[in-house]
Amino acid sequence: MAAPMAVQQAKKKSSGSIMDETKTGMESSQLMKLFEDSLKDIYWSEKALTKAIPKMIKNATSEELIEALKNHLEETHEQVTRCEDVFKSIDKKATAKKCEAMDGLMKEGEEIMKECEEGPMCDAGIIAAGQKIEHYEIASYGTLRQFAETLGLEEAVELLEATLEEEKAADMKLTEVAVSVVNVQASQEEEV
Ligand code: FE
Ligand code: ZN
Ligand code: FE
Repeated sequence: MAAPMAVQQAKKKSSGSIMDETKTGMESSQLMKLFEDSLKDIYWSEKALTKAIPKMIKNATSEELIEALKNHLEETHEQVTRCEDVFKSIDKKATAKKCEAMDGLMKEGEEIMKECEEGPMCDAGIIAAGQKIEHYEIASYGTLRQFAETLGLEEAVELLEATLEEEKAADMKLTEVAVSVVNVQASQEEEV
């Protein structure tokens, strides 16, 4: 009767883990792998954004938009560090893995900026591209935070939550700026 004994011991082991009792050790390690892969993906994205946002700032005209982008660039630098802290909290070396989705979103933004002349229309394009990026980040951090919660990684949950809130605020700020950019455009059209 060696097999049932082994099963019982395995059960005992998993019930003492950070996972809830209905989750097996196998599910836990697979989720951990998914968590790490997603973290590498967003870590790459944040680092890439520290180079992409300055290009958006250069092409922007509206003072309010420039201010919002500068502010979020600063936050993005902190978010890179925060990602590194999450890696540290799970005893892993910070590793970046190219995110094809974010790469595509940033390329779209560059295309928009190439095709428009500086001014309200270009600002509107930058805002649209920027909001797509923020939405992707909100989805990514929301998922990461949920994974961390399920895995019982309390420190990671707090770090990821902090960045998630910054991304949400950045998105709302861009919505606000969009309204004022549209208003500027309307007033310019009246002058013509
Ligand atoms: Fe970010
Ligand atoms: Zn990705
Ligand atoms: Fe962001």
